[in-house]
Amino acid sequence: MIEMNNVYKVYDNGVTALNGVKTTIDNGEFVYVVGPSGAGKSSFIKMMYREEVPSKGHVKINHVDIGDMKDKQVPYLRRSIGVIFQDFKLLPKLTVYENVAFALEVIEENPRKIRRRVMDVLDKVGLKHKARFIPAQLSGGEQQRVAIARAIVNNPKVVIADEPTGNLDPDTSWEIMRIFEEVNATGTTVIMATHSKDIVNKIRRRVIAMENGQIVRDEHRGEYGYED
Ligand code: ADP
Ligand code: ADP
Repeated sequence: MIEMNNVYKVYDNGVTALNGVKTTIDNGEFVYVVGPSGAGKSSFIKMMYREEVPSKGHVKINHVDIGDMKDKQVPYLRRSIGVIFQDFKLLPKLTVYENVAFALEVIEENPRKIRRRVMDVLDKVGLKHKARFIPAQLSGGEQQRVAIARAIVNNPKVVIADEPTGNLDPDTSWEIMRIFEEVNATGTTVIMATHSKDIVNKIRRRVIAMENGQIVRDEHRGEYGYED
């Protein structure tokens, strides 16, 4: 469960990216975050994995205030949250297998368990047969599927995606959405910032709309609501 109360974010350059945000996201929800560029969507979701900390107010993950969290606790938080980016952020010199295993190996799992878990998760995203490829040998959609595999390999409670289909064509975007729906169907919370009107209007879920650093709309099975 994610709770934000009276959250403000003012960056060093004086820009106010979040201007009093209050919301609660329950376990298992699927939430789109929409709104114009510069509205604060990225800042909002960065609060949830402590990529940024609030200038004022409180962000709680399962009742723990991440503002009070010690630096050494941050890696544990990050392991319980999978993050997916528009530009994939795969490690270019590592294979598909290694990109995914990398996320697990930090917890000192035994090698057989690592291998089974990595292959299971690559199978889930349909890329078992490309385990030995490097990212440059894959299409954009395949690279994003690797990024999703990496994000879910530790069985996180929450998956956060910042415009995951922003670099992908419509067909590929739908394939990626199908994977997010499967991830959510197993009980994982999915929070996704997106500019895809089509996706939001067809796969109806909770919609949080942001403008000028504030939540201006929060609807169950909402619509995209913008023209872009
Ligand atoms: P969105 O994701 O909706 O485009 P962002 O959260 O990225 O919104 O940005 C909100 C505002 O904060 C914008 O004016 C943006 O330029 C600014 N901003 C975002 N990140 C930083 C940063 N690291 N330093 C300074 N300003 C930032
Ligand atoms: P910036 O604020 O510079 O835009 P990003 O949000 O793009 O930074 O992320 C910075 C780096 O942190 C990325 O390389 C990303 O892979 C990594 N990162 C941070 N948190 C996580 C996480 N929970 N899971 C995966 N990668 C993470």
